Amino acid sequence: MKSAFEAAQFYFEEAASVIGLSDSLRDLLVTPEREIKVQVPIKRDNGQIATFIGYRMQHNSARGPMKGGLRYHHEVNADEVLALASLMTWKTAVVDIPYGGAKGGISVNTKDLSTDELERLTRRFVDEIHDLFGPDKDIPAPDMGTNAQTMAWIMNQYEKFHGFAPACVTGKPVELYGAEGREEATGRGVGTLTLAFLRKFGRSIENSTVAIQGFGNVGSFTASYLHQAGGKVIAISDVSGGILNRDGIDIPAALEYVAVNKSLAGFPGGQPVSNETVLSIDVDVLIPAALGNVLTEQNAGDVRARYIIEAANGPTTPEADAIFRQREIPVLPDILANAGGVTVSYFEWVQNQQYFRWDISRVREELEKYMTRAFHRVWTIAAERHVSLRTAAYILAIGRVSRATELGGI
Ligand code: NAD
Repeated sequence: MKSAFEAAQFYFEEAASVIGLSDSLRDLLVTPEREIKVQVPIKRDNGQIATFIGYRMQHNSARGPMKGGLRYHHEVNADEVLALASLMTWKTAVVDIPYGGAKGGISVNTKDLSTDELERLTRRFVDEIHDLFGPDKDIPAPDMGTNAQTMAWIMNQYEKFHGFAPACVTGKPVELYGAEGREEATGRGVGTLTLAFLRKFGRSIENSTVAIQGFGNVGSFTASYLHQAGGKVIAISDVSGGILNRDGIDIPAALEYVAVNKSLAGFPGGQPVSNETVLSIDVDVLIPAALGNVLTEQNAGDVRARYIIEAANGPTTPEADAIFRQREIPVLPDILANAGGVTVSYFEWVQNQQYFRWDISRVREELEKYMTRAFHRVWTIAAERHVSLRTAAYILAIGRVSRATELGGI
């Protein structure tokens, strides 16, 4: 199996070949601008010192300050963070917001740390990298294992060095310069494009079944959106395993259950199944919304979904992607499908720069506009060039980034 960065590069190269991108621009666009790796030591609650490794990979800034999430997960490593940083360059270009791409992470199992320890870890990481990010350089946001509270700590620590600067990070709590609608944004964007995607195939959500892997920020808001839109969500899962109910899962009840129990384990609204089963059940729409590399050469042949929507980043390996193309299972790619989060992060940053607050209806309206515009553009490119939606999304993104690079010069 290709490494995460090799996989990201594979998709880039495929699209670069279709548009005949020059070798010199290819070299420039695959080479990250800066790779940061720092030691992040903290004092544990028991007085002992624990040492972690933190990363911030800054891939490309041709179209603006770099933008990307911060992930706390025990599998975080340099290769994966770099792959995710490059995806951000293409994602911000696909939805046409004025940013480049970056990503960060700390290799840590958050369940092993107390809230106080997580706060010390976050502040120490900011101490190490505060000169290298900021409102006009690189703006972090939440990703797996981080949330609005983490962003509040980042802002507070950054401001100790640089003064008032709420635009240094997005995904903040609404009470602390965050944007209404940011928390739901990625799931809402996934939901919006799922409906648009189904319509292209002459189908509606009311007559479709859905399976979602991952019930965190993205998975749960996607489930709510599709449930409210009339879809039948028949399977959901989290790290503890999956739940299947062919009559449709009561999503509000599942959300309440997780709010209390912190996981889906024991949720009574369906039968327990494995995470692998969730990926292979007979369903109309499969939405991986957890980790990367879950759809592989080994299980792609077992997938019985008619459509795949990539809510997670990098859930499909290139080998699996080839199998889906051959099996004619359309895939809505991550750099388009889950771009709602970074789009509303952009709205938050704009509001912070202007000291102005939009109401939720304006956020939702603008989000829908950005997402559907990008979707129709990608759809048209795919139809015109007879390529997959993934290749079309990369073509759109690479075109925008390479034009900015040529116009700006080096
Ligand atoms: P999260 O931490 O809120 O939730 C992750 C979910 O995945 C949890 O339900 C967790 O239990 C589950 N999970 C973890 N390991 C699993 C496993 N081995 N099998 C099945 N489920 C597992 O994270 P999130 O913010 O929802 O991010 C999910 C994905 O979406 C990631 O790939 C992330 O990069 C991507 N993404 C997130 C955003 C955002 O705004 N949060 C934006 C774009 C893309």
